[in-house]
Amino acid sequence: MAPTYSLVIPIYNEEEILYALYDRLNRLMARLDGPVELIFVDDGSKDKSLKIIRELHQADSRIAYISLARNFGHQIAVTAGLHYAKGQAVVILDADLQDPPEVIPNLIARWKEGFQVVYAKRTIRHKEVLFKRVGAYLYYRILQRLSDITIPTDTGDFCLLDRKVVEVLNAMPERNRYIRGLRTWVGFRQVAVPFERDPRFAGERKYTLRKLIGLGLNGIFSFSRAPLKISTYLGFLSATVALAMAILILYWRLFQPDSQFTGFATILIAVFFLGAVQLISVGILGEYIGRIYEEVKGRPLFTCKELEGFDHLARVPGA
Ligand code: UDP
Ligand code: MG
Repeated sequence: MAPTYSLVIPIYNEEEILYALYDRLNRLMARLDGPVELIFVDDGSKDKSLKIIRELHQADSRIAYISLARNFGHQIAVTAGLHYAKGQAVVILDADLQDPPEVIPNLIARWKEGFQVVYAKRTIRHKEVLFKRVGAYLYYRILQRLSDITIPTDTGDFCLLDRKVVEVLNAMPERNRYIRGLRTWVGFRQVAVPFERDPRFAGERKYTLRKLIGLGLNGIFSFSRAPLKISTYLGFLSATVALAMAILILYWRLFQPDSQFTGFATILIAVFFLGAVQLISVGILGEYIGRIYEEVKGRPLFTCKELEGFDHLARVPGA
């Protein structure tokens, strides 16, 4: 029988957490009004996570799992889970219990009211470092100004998606995935459910600063062409500055021949300024061209080394 609910959980080196996670989910599942499948996506973990997942799968037939052939990153891990989820409603949540499973019934309630995308919006982040809070606050607001669609602020990937939305997302071949953006892009009836984000249950964060910056840039470059305009504006700015300087220098030459401002330093500044403008522009172009390159190669989004608990066959190459 097809489950009503699928819970998709990306896992990367979370051995300290898995039993506690299963425990919390188990209690949650008992409260839900329909059959549930748990989809654990092992994102190429190097610790005992996969072993524990296998063990849990053996003990509980509601658990299915996919093990990716290497670490593909959180967004791709979630994508892989969405590919295999069969539920009428699919919930995405982090493994570290920062997204409290107890919020899921609230998401489901809204889904039953007819919303196809129910995303959890954090009101409070418990015990997160100031840098991350301020960074996230600013980032989401900048993204909202820049992007062509209105991506809601302070929402992560914790959400419930209706079957229809999952089908649409699965049909998107996009490689540089920014799921919270795509989720907004698809449309449908959407609603936010507020929640308090708990601290990580145990272990270190798996999102390194590098991965986080990569995710952030993906959000901007996949949903906005504004950075391309920056080069145009910089070009105009440097042209204006150059013109002003030309006029000034001419003025000094003619009327103040012993001015100190017309020497080597002026030239040096101008050269560096123009160099910077050009390099920034090339860099921005590069970001877009790099993404085009990634897309046209058409490689599969992920490769999968182990797949258990799914009775339907693999739909993704490499699996
Ligand atoms: N994760 C993953 N692949 C990665 C990094 C993270 O699947 O390459 C998972 C991780 O196991 C967790 C979720 O993504 O379930 C969120 O990661 P984390 O808690 O480190 O991020 P944060 O909550 O600090 O943003
Ligand atoms: Mg976390």
